[in-house]
This record gives sequence, structure tokens and C-alpha cells, in this order.
Amino acid sequence: MTSLPRLVAFDLDDTLAASKSPLDPRMAALMVRLLGAVEVCVISGGQIAQFHMQLIDNLDDVSDEALSRLHLMPTCGTQYYRHIEGAWTQIYAELLTDAEKAGALSAVEATARELGYWEGDTWGPILEDRGSQITFSALGQAAPVAAKTAWDHSGEKKNALREAVQARLPELEVRSGGSTSVDITRRGIDKAYGMKKLATLTGVSLDEMLFVGDRLDENGNDYPVKVLGVECFAVGGWEDTAAFLEILIPRLEAGAV
Ligand SMILES: [Mg+2]
Repeated sequence: MTSLPRLVAFDLDDTLAASKSPLDPRMAALMVRLLGAVEVCVISGGQIAQFHMQLIDNLDDVSDEALSRLHLMPTCGTQYYRHIEGAWTQIYAELLTDAEKAGALSAVEATARELGYWEGDTWGPILEDRGSQITFSALGQAAPVAAKTAWDHSGEKKNALREAVQARLPELEVRSGGSTSVDITRRGIDKAYGMKKLATLTGVSLDEMLFVGDRLDENGNDYPVKVLGVECFAVGGWEDTAAFLEILIPRLEAGAV
């Protein structure tokens, strides 16, 4: 990117915060500062509740004006939230039909049981209805990172499950989510879908955006954004993102003057 981005978009888990964890105070301060300089989007496969717990609830001393620059895209942009008149407001949500949900729930459970991946002892429910997305989390939504890593270190189980469920649900799209999760949505819903919606909603074109994510590799859930042609910056974790922002923010602040 030769010029500065007009909008900086981020993945959430392992990009802004450790998986399912609140923002570190260092990152929270950087986000508040970034919001003073540029439009910001956070896009994730997770639900809005996760955005509140991990991100919003940890932004201290942030003005309404700064929050008006924050674009929240849960479930890959099939839902969209803005901060309007002091409150987070859902602008739209594209939901699966009841029949689509029922088909997805039964297909993923049957397949997981057949493959021997349906665990009896989990941290919370394995299946979750996120409205616009059905999510399978092998060890439950609240499983600790170490347990998830131990369950499927290579990603082999998750990929096998994803393929088998996809074969059963040709009308829907089955994608790899977090480390032990599989997401089922309408076809064509991924972070690229969300980023295209964002361009339409904000009037900021894709080539004026910068995307930061930890899974820009070919099997990663951030990869579709790279394929879309958006300028991307790959990180290994939130600390990398913080170091990157410490360089980017002063440039944006200088450019904004
Ligand atoms: Mg991530």
C-alpha cells in the first residue's frame, strides 16, 4: 500500500486478543488510539457477545465519536453493528432459515458421531445456533486452548469433519472455523463476503483497506480476504498486532493532520 489505509480491519481471535479472551490493556489502549485516527472494522466468525466480552467491554475512556468509527461484523459479516446514539445497534442480520438450521445441526452431529469425534465430556455445548451460522466446537465453546490443541494438533480431525459434512450439505457451505470448530453458513459466506459488504456500507473501497489476521495461510479463515485482493498483514498473535499498530498509528495520526 503506497498511501495510508482509510480503514483498518482486524480478525479477533489470536489477532486482537488470545482466543476467547479479553483484550490485553496494551492492545485496548492501541485500539482506542487507532479509532481516533481511522475507521476500524473487526470481523470474526464469532457472535456479538464475544465482541462485547473480548473487545468493547475493555475499551476504556473511549468517546462516542471514536466508537462511531468502529464497524463490528460478527459471523463473518452476516451481521453488522454500529454505535449509534450511545448504544450498539444491529444494522442487519442475515439469518439461516429454520429448515437450513435443522439440516445443518443434524448433519454435523451425525457426521461427528460416525467419525468418533462427538465427545462426551466438553466445556459447554458442542453445537451452537448463531442465527446466521451453525457452529460445531469439538470440545464445547469454552474449552481451554491447551485441550483444543491436544485434541487436534494437526487439524486433521477438523478437516475430515468439514469435508464429510460438506458432502452431506451441498446447499450450504461448511468451513473451518477456530482450532477445533467448523462453521456452517449459506454458500459464499466468509470474511471476503463480509469485507465486500463493508466496502458497500462504508463507501471505502477494498483497495483503501488494510486487513490484519493470524490465519492468512491457505487453510485459514482469514485467507479469503487475501484472495479478494485486500492488502493484508499477517500476525502470529496479538503481540505482533500491537507492535504493528505502534508503527502504523503515528503514521495515520501524522497523515490525518
Ligand atoms: Mg484468528
